[in-house]
Amino acid sequence: MVAQYLEIRRQYPQHILFYRMGDFYELFFDDARLAAPILDIALTSRGQMGGNPIPMAGVPVHSFSLYLAKLVQAGHSVAICEQMEPSGQQKGPVRREVVRIVTAGTLTEEELLTPRASNFLACLVPPSPKDKGFALAFLELSTGQFQTLVVREWSDAVNELSRFGAVELLAPEEWTPPALTESLPPIVRRGAWMFAPSHGRRLLLDHFGVAHLEAYEIEDLPLCQAACGALIAYAQETQKGKLPHIVNLVRLFPEESLILDETSRRHLEIHFSQRTQERSTSLLGVMDLTLTSMGSRLLSAWINRPLRTPSAIYRRQEGIAWFLANEESRLRLRNLLKEVPDLERLVGRLALLRASPRDAGALRTLLQRLPALREWLPEPLPPILQEAVEPLSAHEELAGHLSAILADNPPVNPQDGGIIREGWDEELDRLRTLAHDGKGFLARLEAREKETTGIPSLKIRFHRTFGYTLEVTHTHRDKVPAHYLQRQTMTNAVRYVIPELKEYEDQILNAEEKATQLENRHFDTLLHAIARESRALLTTAQALAHVDLLAALAEGAKRYDYCRPEVNEQEILSIRQGRHPVVERFTSSSFTANDLFLDGQNQRLFLLTGPNMAGKSTLLRQTALIVLMAQMGAYVPAQEATIGICDRIFTRIGAADDLAGGRSTFMVEMTETARILHHATSRSLVILDEIGRGTSTIDGLAIAWSVAEFILNQCRCRTLFATHYLELTTLAQQQAGVVNHTVEVLDKEGQVLFLHTIRPGAADRSYGIHCAQLAGLPPMVLRRAEEIQATLEGNRGQSAPPPPAPGRSSKQKALFAEEKESEAPALLELRSIDPDELTPRQALFTLYRLKKLLK
Ligand code: ADP
Repeated sequence: MVAQYLEIRRQYPQHILFYRMGDFYELFFDDARLAAPILDIALTSRGQMGGNPIPMAGVPVHSFSLYLAKLVQAGHSVAICEQMEPSGQQKGPVRREVVRIVTAGTLTEEELLTPRASNFLACLVPPSPKDKGFALAFLELSTGQFQTLVVREWSDAVNELSRFGAVELLAPEEWTPPALTESLPPIVRRGAWMFAPSHGRRLLLDHFGVAHLEAYEIEDLPLCQAACGALIAYAQETQKGKLPHIVNLVRLFPEESLILDETSRRHLEIHFSQRTQERSTSLLGVMDLTLTSMGSRLLSAWINRPLRTPSAIYRRQEGIAWFLANEESRLRLRNLLKEVPDLERLVGRLALLRASPRDAGALRTLLQRLPALREWLPEPLPPILQEAVEPLSAHEELAGHLSAILADNPPVNPQDGGIIREGWDEELDRLRTLAHDGKGFLARLEAREKETTGIPSLKIRFHRTFGYTLEVTHTHRDKVPAHYLQRQTMTNAVRYVIPELKEYEDQILNAEEKATQLENRHFDTLLHAIARESRALLTTAQALAHVDLLAALAEGAKRYDYCRPEVNEQEILSIRQGRHPVVERFTSSSFTANDLFLDGQNQRLFLLTGPNMAGKSTLLRQTALIVLMAQMGAYVPAQEATIGICDRIFTRIGAADDLAGGRSTFMVEMTETARILHHATSRSLVILDEIGRGTSTIDGLAIAWSVAEFILNQCRCRTLFATHYLELTTLAQQQAGVVNHTVEVLDKEGQVLFLHTIRPGAADRSYGIHCAQLAGLPPMVLRRAEEIQATLEGNRGQSAPPPPAPGRSSKQKALFAEEKESEAPALLELRSIDPDELTPRQALFTLYRLKKLLK
C-alpha cells in the first residue's frame, strides 16, 4: 500500500493528497505534518518506513468538505484519491485513482462556496512579440460562466482581475508581473506549451465542437484563444473529465463598460465597508434585495461592469419600471423566488456528475414551480423580461421525467437507496420487495426461535464475515438446540446459524445490494440526461437571476424612494435632491439631500470648500455612486437625475500609507493623482477629495492649484474637487468652467452647526478648531490654537510662519508681548476685584466678563 501511495504521490507533487482508506481520507508524511495543525486534527503514525514511523492524519469522509475548505482557504490545493473497487475482493491494495483536484478557483461544492459570491478562476497571457495587450479569461466552474477579454495595459489587467474578484490566477511559468502588485490572486504556473495559441484553439474547437471561433468573437485573437484554452486544460486537469456545463464563451469589450479601478471601488465602499469590512454597509449590501443567490451574483456582476450604452441601460430600466408598475406581480414573484434554489450551481454539480439525489430532487421541485412563476409575468412585457420568460417553459419534458423517476424525498447519499420511485422499474420493485420481505422474515424468525428455545435474549444480528447469525448469551447456552451450528464464540455470547437463515440471507443481501446498484445505474443515466440539458437549464438560471434582480431593484427603488435617471450621451450631470445610498440608510439623524449640476462645458469643475465634517466627502461619493448606479441600469437615490454617460470614474479619496509598497501617504496621493491626469478623458468623472494635504501648506496649495488647472484645460472632464485650501476658490474668477460651492454652517454665538446643505459660493473659514473641539482636544490646546490662529490671520499677506513653542525665538517673544497687551484690560479689572465682596452669582458673572475681555 505504501508503494501505491508513493506512486500516486509522485504524480501529484504540488497538491496535498487525500488518500481514501475506508471511511477516512488519510494524509501521510509531509502532508500529514502540514495539514494537521491547519485542520486541528491529531498527528499520529502508522507502520514504518526506513525504520521511522510514518506520520499520518485522517479526516472522516462524511465531513471531509469542512476540512477541504480550511486547506483551500489556507492556500493549498488537494488531490482526492478514491478507492476504485470494493475492498476485500482482491489481492494486494485496492485500486485507487485521483478523481479530482480541488483548488481555490475550481470549487463546485455548495459547502465550499459562498452562495452570493462568484468564484472565478482567471488566466492571464502576457503580450507576445506578435500580439499586443494582455489576454484574460475567467471561468466560474460551479456555474460554467466563461468570459474573455483583451486589455491594453498591465494596470487594466489588474483592474479586471479585481473586478472579477478572481481567487486563483493561471499564468505561464516564465512570466513575472511587470510591476509589484499587492492585490493579485495566488498564481498557479504551468509550462509555456499550455499557453500556446494553437494549443488553446484546438482545445476550444474540440470542447465546443465547432469548426472556428467566430461565434465567440475570438477568431482573430490568438492571445485570447491561448488564455481560454489554458483554462479549459486546467479545468480538465483538475476535474479529470468532461465539462458539459461550459456551454458558452462570452467576449467582453472593455470599452463597453464603465471603468472603476480597484482603489476607487474600495474607497467608494462598493463591496465592503472599509472600516468594518462588512458587506451590509456597502453599496452592494444596500442594493441587494435579491432573494436567490443567482440574482445576488448577477447584481455583483452588474455593479462590477456598469454599462456605457444608453440603450442597454434603458433596457434594464424598463424591466425595473415594469416591476414598479406591476406591484402584485413583484410581490407574488418575490414570494415564490424565496423558495428557488441556486439552479446555476445545481446544474454545475449535476453536469460534473457530482450531484446528490437530493440535488436532482431540488431541480424537480424547481422545474415544477416554473409555470407558477411564469404566471406572474403576463405579457406584454418589456424586452428584457420577455427574454427571461421564454426559457421558463422549456423544461416540461425534463420536469415530467424527473417526477416519474425520482422518489418523493431522494436521499443525500446515493448508497442509502430510495432514489427511484416505485413503479418506475419492475425489476427494482421486485428486488425491493424481496429485501423488505426478507427483513420481515428475519423479525418473524427471531420471534419464533425465541419462543421455541425459550431464550428471551436471542437476537438475529448481521456480521460482516459470518452474515446473519443467531446470537445467544452464555447464560442460555444450555438451551441451544442441536441443529444450531456454532460459528463464533465471543466473551459474552456465541453466534450460530441454521440453514433456513442462510437461505434467506443470500436473497436478502443480494436483493438489497442489487437494488442499490440498479438505483444508482438509473440515477447515473438521469444525471447524464440532465447534463445534456445543461445549456437550456443554464439559460433558465440566467432568466431567473434577471427576474429576481430586476424585481429586487424595483423593490429597492420603491422602498427607498429612488428615481429613474435619464441617461444619455450628453455631458450633463444633473442631480436634484441626491442622497448617499448607504449613509442615508445608516445615519442616526435625517439625511440632507443636495443638488448638483455640471454640464461639462461652462460648469465642469465643482469646487467644494467647507469645514471638516460638513459633508463634502459624502457629496463627492454619493455623486460617484449615483452615476455608477445609473449606468448599471438601476434607479438612483434622488428626486430627479440626468446622467451623461461616463467612460470612467476616477477617485482620489482618503489617505492611506502604502507601507508595504514603500510609499508614504503623500506618495500614494501623488501616484493616484498622476494616474488620473494621464488617463482621464473628457467623458470621465473625476472625484478629488483633498489634494496636497500630505505636504507643507504652500507646496500642497501649489500642487492642488496646478492639478485643478490641468484638469480644467487638458482633461476637460467633469470633476468634483473638495479642498481645504480656501485660496483655490479664486480660480473661479480666473478660469471658465469652475463653480464654487460650499457647505452651509450655522455659527450662533460660538455654537457651530453643520447643516450638510450645499450652496453656491465659497467657504469663509475652515472651522478646524471647532472640529478639534468636537474630537475632544484638551481645552488648553484649543484656546492656544485659537490665539495662534488669530495672530496668523493678522499676519496674512506677510509670509506667515507658524509660531514655534513658547519662549524660543524673538518672533515668539513678540507674539507674547502682543498677547500681554491684549490682556491688559482684563488684568486691570482683575486687580480691582475684592473676592470677599462678591456674591457667588456676581463672582460667576465677573468671571464671564473677564473671559470676554481676554477674547
Ligand atoms: P467632510 O468630508 O466635509 O469632512 P463627511 O462627508 O465625511 O464630511 O461627513 C461627515 C459626517 O456627516 C458623515 O459621516 C455623515 O454622518 C454626516 N453627513 C454628511 N453629509 C450628510 C448629509 N447630507 N446629511 C446628513 N448627514 C450627513
